Amino acid sequence: MQYLIDQARVFPARAAAHDVSLGAPAQSQQPRAMFISCSDARVVPALITAARPGDLFELRTYGGVIPPYDPEGPTGESRTIEYAVDELGVSDIIVCGHSYCEVVTAALHDHLAAAGIEGPGEGLTPLTGDLTAAGHWHVLAQLDALSNHPSVVPRLVDRSLHLHAWFHEIETGATLQYVPRASSFLPL
Ligand SMILES: [Zn+2]
Repeated sequence: MQYLIDQARVFPARAAAHDVSLGAPAQSQQPRAMFISCSDARVVPALITAARPGDLFELRTYGGVIPPYDPEGPTGESRTIEYAVDELGVSDIIVCGHSYCEVVTAALHDHLAAAGIEGPGEGLTPLTGDLTAAGHWHVLAQLDALSNHPSVVPRLVDRSLHLHAWFHEIETGATLQYVPRASSFLPL
């Protein structure tokens, strides 16, 4: 914890040393994009995209999960998406999954167990290829939930909003994007 406190104390000096402008975005924000990702500590959107203050409007949840829209009980995730789309008018939303996501691994374990399939090694150990495929599928499932959000739908129809599915490989640092015509994730 002390490391974090020390870094927060010297942040203004570090920002100045790296030529990071703190004054410009102080009054209002016009982010380049909304970035939705897993809360996983190994995923650092600002580091991946070299974002500076004001660049990214972030939504981070466990597994990067976007719950289906429910008009009876709006969630924090739903309100965050609404604000980004309706108030900030973002033109792009990136939904970024990642490798070795515990949420995806747990879901795949459950799926294998339910199907009575045992993986190699001790008990139910999903294959690496299965995990990658499940991770990719997981991102597309969140993108699907996002594309059905009532704030998002009209902006997709008039093409003023673009959705992107990314997948960050924490072991290599590479980031892939989903290419619909190839039906697969390819390097950015
Ligand atoms: Zn995760």
